[in-house]
This record gives sequence, C-alpha cells and structure tokens, in this order.
Amino acid sequence: MKILTTIAEVRAEAHRKPRVLVPTMGALHKAHGELIRVARDAAGKRGEVAVSIFVNPLQFEPGSDYNRYPRAEKADEEFCRNAGVDLLFRPSADEVYAHDRSTFVEETSLSSTLEGKSRPGHFRGVCTVVAKLFNILAPDAAVFGEKDFQQLAIIRRMVRDLNFNIDIIAVPTIREEDGLACSSRNQYLNSDARNQASVLYKALQAAANSGKKSASEIVAVAREVINEAPLARIDYVELVHADTLQPVQAAGPSTALLVAVIFGKTRLIDNIRLR
Ligand code: AMP
Repeated sequence: MKILTTIAEVRAEAHRKPRVLVPTMGALHKAHGELIRVARDAAGKRGEVAVSIFVNPLQFEPGSDYNRYPRAEKADEEFCRNAGVDLLFRPSADEVYAHDRSTFVEETSLSSTLEGKSRPGHFRGVCTVVAKLFNILAPDAAVFGEKDFQQLAIIRRMVRDLNFNIDIIAVPTIREEDGLACSSRNQYLNSDARNQASVLYKALQAAANSGKKSASEIVAVAREVINEAPLARIDYVELVHADTLQPVQAAGPSTALLVAVIFGKTRLIDNIRLR
C-alpha cells in the first residue's frame, strides 16, 4: 500500500489503472470496511482502490467537534493495509487549503434543509473538499454511504451540475447488532447514551412498518419511539422526497424518513427508505 501525504506525490504517480476512491475522515470502522470492499469490487482486478483520510476543518461548523474528532493514524493505516487498499492519501490541512483560500463549492438547494439547517456551512465544506479530492486523485468512481443520506444526494447533484466524470456508488447503511448505524462519533457516547442510541433505528423501523401513509402520522410514530429514550433530544424527524429532499405529505416509493437526534453533545443521524 502506498501512503501519500502531498498533492505533488499524487500527481507524480503514473495513474493509468481505473481508480475507485473512498473518501473518509478516518477513525475507520466496519462501515468503512464495507465501502472499501465495494470499491474493490467496482475497481476490478486491474483497478486500484484509493482511500483518503482527511478531517476536513471546513465542514465543521464553529463550536463543533473538529478538535476532539477521533484521529487514529496508526490503526487506520493498519485497517487500510488489511483491507487491501492500494493507495492511502492522508494530507494535512495545510496541504489541502491555502491560508488565503477564497474559492468554495456550494450546492444551494438540497443543502438548505435538514443537516444544512442545523449545521450552517457544513455542506459547503463537504462539497469543497470532495471536489478537491476528485481533482487531486482523479478517480473513475467514488463510494459513499447511505447513512449520510443528504450528503450522498448533494454529492450526486454536485457531480451532475459540475460535470465530474465520476460514477457515484452508494453503499447501504452498516449497523451494529442493536441497529445503531456505525459511526466514528458513536465512541463519544457514554454507556447509557450508547444503550439508548439504538432508539433511532427502532423509531425508523416502527414508522416504516406502521402501515401509515401520511407524513404527520409517520413522523409522530418515530417521535414517540425516540421520546422513550430519556437522554435523546430530537433535532428533526422529516419525511422527504429521496432526490430533492423536499418535505412530502405522504410516504411513497421515492420517499425517505430522516432523523437527527442529540445525546449530550453528540448528534446522530439515520434514515430509512419508505415504500
Ligand atoms: P466519515 O469517515 O464518517 O466521513 O464517512 C466516510 C464515508 O463512510 C461516507 O461516505 C459515509 O457515508 C460512509 N459511512 C459512514 N458510516 C457509515 C455506515 N454506518 N454505513 C454506511 N456508510 C457509512
């Protein structure tokens, strides 16, 4: 496995094989492992799998967890090696951003709701860094998780709108045994919060299986289940169109239920597609 930390090193690499990129912020866990496996499948025998690890300061809104975000350099390196990654790109913040940067990539429609409302500037940071990683690593395809449902929709929109010649591959949400979506942020949870955090997926399933069609009834079912967890504070529960992320009145084949719940200082998100 090659480990590169500078843009110049990446550019100096001869790169004629099909490349599939998995962008991450590190603190790698089994969901990242699944994204890497899917990337390997997509790259085929001839192709190469690239993983980027970059805790992107631009996507952390002021006062959020940029400084305490878990960084696990050695363990992540081992993880990638064991997962058969060909190229690990691990730049510093100074390598990625000029101190006087003044150009950003901003998606202006899908980013204005849900996470975007609660985390101003977050998706501008995400789009900017993903566009830069696309330009630096020039992949043929890139793999993203459905756990970050809104992020995936926004990346697809950015790729369409800016004509990146890159296939976006989506991977279904990977979960712990009790249903909690795997996330690097789960390690912030104390044991009580961790036990109660399974309520997100329970709520989504209860809502999806309730037989209800109207958005208000579906949302009410999910809220009721989440409210059974004393430490859970709901940020939002919304039924939206899966592509536009606009609120819908009723469940249907192109709809999804998205939730964000805060335990102490830790925001957790999850989603489920409805039928
Ligand atoms: P992160 O390192 O948290 O920025 O995530 C890197 C990539 O892994 C993103 O595309 C995420 O959507 C994806 N990812 C993180 N957790 C999960 C999960 N539990 N299931 C599927 N994909 C995930």
